[in-house]
Amino acid sequence: MGDEREDDDETEILRRRVAELEQELTRTRSLLETIFARIPAVFYVKGVDRRYQYGSPWGFRIFGVDPAYAIGRTDAELFPPALAERFAASDRRVLEGQEMASVSYAVPAQGQPLHFAGVRFPIPGPDGKAIAICGFAVDVTERIELARKLEKLATTDALTGLANRRRFDAHFAAEVARAARSGEPLTLVLCDVDHFKRYNDRYGHQRGDACLVEVARALEGLVRRPADLAARYGGEEFALVLPETSQEGATKIAERLRSVVRGLGFEHEDNAGHGVVTVSAGVATVTGGGWTVEEVIELADRALYDAKAGGRDRHVSVYEERPPASVGRGG
Ligand code: GH3
Ligand code: MG
Ligand code: MG
Repeated sequence: MGDEREDDDETEILRRRVAELEQELTRTRSLLETIFARIPAVFYVKGVDRRYQYGSPWGFRIFGVDPAYAIGRTDAELFPPALAERFAASDRRVLEGQEMASVSYAVPAQGQPLHFAGVRFPIPGPDGKAIAICGFAVDVTERIELARKLEKLATTDALTGLANRRRFDAHFAAEVARAARSGEPLTLVLCDVDHFKRYNDRYGHQRGDACLVEVARALEGLVRRPADLAARYGGEEFALVLPETSQEGATKIAERLRSVVRGLGFEHEDNAGHGVVTVSAGVATVTGGGWTVEEVIELADRALYDAKAGGRDRHVSVYEERPPASVGRGG
């Protein structure tokens, strides 16, 4: 009889304990669900079969996927093929035991793509082998856009909006190297406003600035191909980088520049003999290997000097050829 009472007591204690644990489980689950439902981040757990077991609703919605529909499905069933393949590749690496400190991808949202960065890692089972994959990522679009804006600011001339010297240096060095590999001609035009010191002296620095902006517009109007670059080289000097452009083609472009600037008709009484703002240009076209950036600039600079000495409002063009660079052979 006494035993029965003890049994009843134990059952009652166990029943209460189970009820407590159930309550705690419900509380924990609802806490986690609230957190995951509210955090503006991509968060998910996938099985080793790569089916979603859990995913933050925000994360799925950002991809245009219904969160309820996603559970039990794989990336291939939910996302565009290119994205699904990228996810699959990261999953494979995680399942091979690699913890990935950072994963980044762009999601084509309405309008502009969103950029995400995050981590994904395996969840180990009792024997240490992965039983699930966990991923977490946050939206870094703003950071990436800010970095792009800063990059643009750092490479743009504030007055004219043209590429600045920094961008010219990088671009021109890359084109010199590319021309050596391709064997195609490369042209550099250096252009300088004539008697610009006198212009400032007579008309003031502000009108000087306005004049530089118009010369920049004229240069911009001459670049057509993606690898062409119009840059403010410094002060009242500008540069045009024209890859795969022969001396003949480049001369035509320099002549157009000269005539467009003259055609602006900006009064410049102290520009001896011309009466309007004009530019002089030095055009250097090179082919073959072994050219350094400095050598090509030097050639264009000397041609520019000759154009100035020849009376200004003109261009002088030079062409130099060297044997092609031996590509792919060491020594
Ligand atoms: P040349 O025909 O031989 O080129 O004569 P120049 O007077 O143009 O040459 P110089 O190099 O002696 O003078 C360049 C002038 O360009 C001096 C400077 O005041 C002016 N300049 C350079 N940068 C700017 C700028 O950003 N704004 C204005 N307004 N003037 C500038
Ligand atoms: Mg100058
Ligand atoms: Mg000048």
